Amino acid sequence: MKPPSFDTPSIVWFSNDLRLGDHRALTRAAARGPVVPLYIHDDSTPPMGGAAAWALHQALHALGADLAARGLPLVLRRGKALDILRDVIAATGARHVTWSRRYEPAVAARDADIASALREDGIETSTHSGFLLFEPESIRTGAGTMFKVYTPFSRACFAAPPPERPLPVPQNLRGVDGVKGDTLDALKLVPRTAQWPRGLAQAWDIGEAAAQDRLRDFTARALTGYTTDRDRPDIDGTSRLSPHLHIGTISPRQIWHAIMRHGGGEKYLQEILWRDFSWHLLTQIPDFITEPLQKSFARFPWRDDPAGLRAWQQGMTGYPIVDAGMRQLWQTGWMHNRVRMIAASFLVKDLLIDWRQGAAWFADTLVDADLGSNTASWQWVAGCGADAAPYFRIFNPTLQGAKFDPRGDYVRRFIPELARLDARYIHEPWKAPADMLARAGVQMGKTYPFPVLDHAHARQRALAALKFSKSEAGQPPESADLFD
Ligand SMILES: Cc1cc2nc3c(=O)[nH]c(=O)nc-3n(C[C@H](O)[C@H](O)[C@H](O)COP(=O)(O)OP(=O)(O)OC[C@H]3O[C@@H](n4cnc5c(N)ncnc54)[C@H](O)[C@@H]3O)c2cc1C
Repeated sequence: MKPPSFDTPSIVWFSNDLRLGDHRALTRAAARGPVVPLYIHDDSTPPMGGAAAWALHQALHALGADLAARGLPLVLRRGKALDILRDVIAATGARHVTWSRRYEPAVAARDADIASALREDGIETSTHSGFLLFEPESIRTGAGTMFKVYTPFSRACFAAPPPERPLPVPQNLRGVDGVKGDTLDALKLVPRTAQWPRGLAQAWDIGEAAAQDRLRDFTARALTGYTTDRDRPDIDGTSRLSPHLHIGTISPRQIWHAIMRHGGGEKYLQEILWRDFSWHLLTQIPDFITEPLQKSFARFPWRDDPAGLRAWQQGMTGYPIVDAGMRQLWQTGWMHNRVRMIAASFLVKDLLIDWRQGAAWFADTLVDADLGSNTASWQWVAGCGADAAPYFRIFNPTLQGAKFDPRGDYVRRFIPELARLDARYIHEPWKAPADMLARAGVQMGKTYPFPVLDHAHARQRALAALKFSKSEAGQPPESADLFD
């Protein structure tokens, strides 16, 4: 093995860490000598959803511009990661490859194989933390086991040494010229449907500078009211940093320390720790992505209901808060957390459609689609996860709407056909008097659908389905067919 000389380049292999600040791999490589920044779109790992791929395209564009401004070309390549790394090593004479640790099981396994193959080639490799606040295996119960309940997990995080201070952007970056790469468009990340990306572009500015702006704006404007406003979809009261965290245009350490500088918002830090907790579960529970953690759910009588699924996806269930959420998701690639819970509950408990079908739709349409948070949240809502909301607690979409969107402003924004309806009936338009509907220009069943089911009946059906899944034997209950 050749000893690394001061001028031997290091390859910084970027993936979901598309920033220059608080980037340990980049800082370490820059301290050793020239840097080859490389992004590989590896088709052999599980594909990402459409909206997240759009966000990736934007983040790569911004990262490329930030690096170019410092005289470093970002090398983009598509193909098998190991082949491309070997190719770029041969082209540059690099003796060191460094990257940020990934946690998705398939990607982590690939990275471990790549690290050992490169070491056999005589190449030094190093991986660094940056995606989470705490490494999943570092937070342990007194007995040394993993946590399966959130509250003690978060207590253990607060008791642990705090996340290290974020690193500044390295000042001494030197690049290597002439490394061949693809164009960003050649990676084909932007979905072909013309309309969809336009809505996403109107809603989001993705890149490191945009993420820092968003963090500054949130801490200055909304952090103090977060505890009360965070549940109100009609108020811009949350940080909307989730897509940035997902693609790594900001690091959770940068957020943690910014919140601390603003006097610490414990509620906000608690929420960010849900993200760490989700990955804590995903990395340590085999089959967590595909199987209910509570095994009694293995015999849950999910319904096959393509029409119900389509109505839910299109925001046409007839329950305005659910439909507004699903349309917000389609139009902007994001949905408010409270509404994610209501819409997800409607799918699994009212429609009795398998949570995995909901998780798949979210994974394709969310700009923040994140394997850890999405899987853990769907298992939580379905009542089958580690720290699950009890299945028998079934959200009433009308009451949830009235409580969290009291004037109906959120519903009006995403369901223009109800925009002129009186607030008293905005969450149950089917009950509005005919003359009021006429004045608001609403024709039930024509301009806006009647509810696809009756919530009170659906609730009874869900409870019967739960009873069946908990019982040892027997046929699915008859009430499971109530609305078929
Ligand atoms: C069914 C369902 C699916 C979800 N899928 C995803 C997903 O794919 N990706 C994703 O990032 N979040 C997911 N969430 C969690 C949550 O809805 C979003 O993180 C949040 O709405 C993002 O908006 P924000 O950045 O304004 O949040 P804020 O309220 O500002 O919270 C700050 C950060 O904390 C983290 N966070 C907050 N709540 C949660 C939570 N319940 N679980 C995990 N992390 C959380 C996020 O990283 C978020 O950016 C899901 C929730 C539900 C109920």
